[in-house]
Amino acid sequence: MDYTEGKGWHDPQIVPYSPLTLDPAAMVFHYGQAVFEGLKAYRNQEGKVRLFRPDQNFKRMNRSLERMSMPLIDEDFMVEALKQLVAVDKEWIPIESGQSLYIRPFVIATEPCFGVRASHTYKLVIVLSPVGAYYAGGMKPVKIYVENNYVRAVRGGTGNAKVAGNYAGSLKAQVEAKEKGYEQVLWLDGVENKYIEEVGSMNVFFKVKGEVWTPALNGSILEGITRDSTIQLLKDWGIPVVEKRISMEDLHTAYVNGELEEAFGTGTAAVISPVGDLNWNGHQMIINGEKTGELTTRLYDEMTGIQCGEREDKFGWSVEVTE
Ligand code: PMP
Repeated sequence: MDYTEGKGWHDPQIVPYSPLTLDPAAMVFHYGQAVFEGLKAYRNQEGKVRLFRPDQNFKRMNRSLERMSMPLIDEDFMVEALKQLVAVDKEWIPIESGQSLYIRPFVIATEPCFGVRASHTYKLVIVLSPVGAYYAGGMKPVKIYVENNYVRAVRGGTGNAKVAGNYAGSLKAQVEAKEKGYEQVLWLDGVENKYIEEVGSMNVFFKVKGEVWTPALNGSILEGITRDSTIQLLKDWGIPVVEKRISMEDLHTAYVNGELEEAFGTGTAAVISPVGDLNWNGHQMIINGEKTGELTTRLYDEMTGIQCGEREDKFGWSVEVTE
């Protein structure tokens, strides 16, 4: 679907997967006007296909578009268009447990121009791709390196928007963490470099003395849809959730006192991911003996059960895709 100033969004179409042709001067190549989303469709044994809270992805996409001075989309239209797109060939969607259809909607600036300003033309594309199970060999806790030198997002920046540039700037830290033997980076705030924000593609939660802590949204943390769903589930189970500023010092103190019971990340890719090892300034924190905690497992089973239609969906999160 294309956007032209004065005309709005026009010509939505479903076409076979193929390369895009863009002008080398298209503004997306130079100034990063690029917004994206990520969600999944699940097909269960009866062949029913479900999307998980797709309205939330298009709401967030509009917040990102707004931050980037890009044209907004009609959220209801996008959900309906996505349902039609996924329904084109349901047989294509893997049925085995944990497998799914990954959906990547994105909007890019297409106008050829070297001037630094908002583009007048855009393209919205949705790419679909079957993906294997994230934990093919069972759940495995991730090792996370707390980043001190680089900053992912600052107040007033684009941290809470899902834009390409946020990820571009994070890759060097990821490479360096990998060299040190860690799989992912935990970002701290970009002001005092003290408070926990999020992991590269996940929000984070910590179970401390029976309470669950997660960093409060502050304008530089991505508003994860799995994060929101996790908070709603925990509250529904009567488990206290505290959204607050969490400093690494406070977390380390809880760890030293034996109060840090579990840690996990939340995001579309892994859904719920146990954290087994955190390295902060050389202090190694082995959480729950590098085992997947009880609450982490319970959340994973419940969330994936709802996504596949195997558990009761009391919040109405699942959207069925019909012909
Ligand atoms: N933070 C970042 C930076 C992300 O890229 C993602 C993945 N979209 C998340 C958190 C988790 O968000 P969600 O639960 O909506 O996938």
